[in-house]
Amino acid sequence: MTAAPEPVDDGMLAPARCSFAHCEACGLPVHKHPDVRGEQIALEPGTYPACALPAQIYRHLSRGVVFLGRDVSELGTVRIEHAEICPARERPDHAALAELWRLLAVRYRREMQ
Ligand SMILES: [Zn+2]
Repeated sequence: MTAAPEPVDDGMLAPARCSFAHCEACGLPVHKHPDVRGEQIALEPGTYPACALPAQIYRHLSRGVVFLGRDVSELGTVRIEHAEICPARERPDHAALAELWRLLAVRYRREMQ
């Protein structure tokens, strides 16, 4: 089993454009930010080490706006969309994402009790 990447921070120092919300599918907390088109993107709270995750899911924030890819100034950390590991969706194939998905699924089941 692959160890889940630990969040680098707890996401509590969210930029001003962030709104706290809950995933419509699983009910777990997410941070919503607009992308460049103004569409609200649900990010998983906190940042994750980029080296543990597939590059195609890297996201970063600049002035509260979500961009694809990573920000080189963020020292190897990235944000990810909640949908990548939402426990209401199918388990991802990537080992590290699957472990994050599993941890959220445990939390989801705990909060449903
Ligand atoms: Zn969800």
